Amino acid sequence: MSFLKCFRWRILAKLCLVVIGTAAAVLLSDNGAQIGAEAIQDIEHGKKILVLNYHKVDNSFNSLAIPPEDFRAQMQFLNEQGYHTISPDELYAGLTGKGELPQNPVLITFDDGYRDNYTNAYPILKELHMKATIFVVPGFTNVNKNYLTWDQMLEMEQNGITIESHTLNHKALEGLTDEQIRTELRDSKQRLEERLGHSVEFLAYPTGTYNLHIAGLAQEAGYIAAFTVKYGNVDLGSNIYALERVPVFRTEHTMRDFYERLQYRPILEQFGWKKN
Ligand SMILES: [Zn+2]
Repeated sequence: MSFLKCFRWRILAKLCLVVIGTAAAVLLSDNGAQIGAEAIQDIEHGKKILVLNYHKVDNSFNSLAIPPEDFRAQMQFLNEQGYHTISPDELYAGLTGKGELPQNPVLITFDDGYRDNYTNAYPILKELHMKATIFVVPGFTNVNKNYLTWDQMLEMEQNGITIESHTLNHKALEGLTDEQIRTELRDSKQRLEERLGHSVEFLAYPTGTYNLHIAGLAQEAGYIAAFTVKYGNVDLGSNIYALERVPVFRTEHTMRDFYERLQYRPILEQFGWKKN
């Protein structure tokens, strides 16, 4: 079945689920039961996995920079709400049926590997015993002082942080030739594996841009899963080479927006807005 055909079928299936779900909610509401479209979709796609996407954690006035005190409050909020941080390996095992995910799983990710991830975010994560994953750009490592060093990465990996690939030089892949894309994907993976001493099998597309062809090249380079900046939650219906994330931005009300993003999540999902 062609991708487009399959895509159309998925939309049709989703619409049916919403219709069935709405009917179920109406039918059961007389008895006070709370079964709606969301619950029915949960049966189809399994547990929802929240994947948060951060960049910087510092006080700079930048929408991608979360002030450290806000970051701490967000992590404490996740703890209080019963979220359990997982590693990319645990996420993959859960999605492929090779492992059991905890209740309310959350994968905390950082893109680019800014040095403030070590100085500001890591102490908070360590103190709260929370796991996180940082997608780094080896072409910047030990070259640009705004980015993590190899020693910082090695230290963090001893304490719950997983380092994965964000390509070699952070170029928008859609503008490159296949050979250049292969180099960006393969050399990043190799360099990280040599320095960190473990296999590197997860990728976050730089600038979030990807397409089916790039996903194919990522698979060819040896990655088993890849993350986008497509807004949504991961579940069994997700494309393993186009995993959804929930970006966290600095806004006028960073904390309030964070709570709302987590709380409003099921409402958006109910209508299948994000996967399509
Ligand atoms: Zn990036």
